[in-house]
Amino acid sequence: MRKVMAEYIWIDGQKPTAKLRSKMKVVEVPEIKSLSDLPDWGFDGSSTYQAEGKKSDLLLKPVRYIPNPLRPGTADVLVMCEVMNQDGSPHPSNTRAPLRAVAEKYASHETWFGLEQEYTLFEGNRPLGWPEKGFPAPQGGYYCGVGSDEVFGRELVEAHAEACLRAGLHLNGTNAEVMPAQWEFQIGPVPALEMGDELWFARWLLYRMGEDYGISATLHPKPVKGDWNGAGCHTNVSTKAMREPGGLKVIEAACEKLRARHEAHIAVYGAHNVERLTGQHETAPINVFRYGNSDRGSSIRIPMGTVNEGKGYFEDRRPAANCDPYEVCRIMLETICS
Ligand code: ADP
Ligand code: MN
Ligand code: MN
Ligand code: MN
Ligand code: MN
Repeated sequence: MRKVMAEYIWIDGQKPTAKLRSKMKVVEVPEIKSLSDLPDWGFDGSSTYQAEGKKSDLLLKPVRYIPNPLRPGTADVLVMCEVMNQDGSPHPSNTRAPLRAVAEKYASHETWFGLEQEYTLFEGNRPLGWPEKGFPAPQGGYYCGVGSDEVFGRELVEAHAEACLRAGLHLNGTNAEVMPAQWEFQIGPVPALEMGDELWFARWLLYRMGEDYGISATLHPKPVKGDWNGAGCHTNVSTKAMREPGGLKVIEAACEKLRARHEAHIAVYGAHNVERLTGQHETAPINVFRYGNSDRGSSIRIPMGTVNEGKGYFEDRRPAANCDPYEVCRIMLETICS
């Protein structure tokens, strides 16, 4: 009988920034037809910052699977898992379980998310393509640039985009960023749980494909100190009411709710974000909340198209590249839907 190679993926308990882990399980079916074909599994939580030495077994519960785009022509899959305690309850490091509850509670709002994942490619301890000594020419020509003097890593970026699409992820674009070796891909708009799962799958694919190129991707929000752009994860959001006539008013009301909970949001918008949200490099300072029409120096930007049409979506520019999309989507729903 044909067997399937299933890569079980989960998120560990590392602080302040959790990391992806995965291991492969051979599943004895010719094809995965539903989640029930994927058995629960276990792992050693003491090696992932998720358990003490004694009684360290934790449970991996499959919650979504996609075809493994790196193994075309096979039935192999990538499997996103939630980490559970031995009794089946969610482990404290499991941020997807709380999102599940909140997404269900506010399902009637039909909220969509679209995340812009920025990241920086490294070769060894230097950003890809940067000179061994000194720095590349100052920022200015790199954003959406073309040419081997300005753009580093496109081969990986394009292969990654293709892999995401082949896997059925809702990737909708990529671009070279303001700092050389920095890139972005966007996923969405999709509902909250899908958003979180798809972004974690896309991150896993980026790291995994980087192995084949000898390139590593970092999500650090300020990978190079000084006059170089940081890396964020702009979070675009709309509820059904925002997408309908009169939606701009609903967006402005949501911005006022977001103002009232600025600190609570910043607390789950990623580690080291204070290095990035300085008020420079297209950001608002971390202790300031302001929203504005087309303003890239604001916390929340209302895009031109939304203002012109009087409906659409808004962009929360505060989340750092290393944020956990499960937490970002959860707090967003709690704030704007309540
Ligand atoms: P920019 O770089 O100008 O901020 P991008 O094109 O990089 O914008 O990203 C726009 C994001 O907005 C995409 O991820 C897309 O999925 C998302 N988006 C578009 N329409 C909506 C919507 N109605 N609700 C939520 N997100 C949306
Ligand atoms: Mn062993
Ligand atoms: Mn963008
Ligand atoms: Mn960007
Ligand atoms: Mn943006």
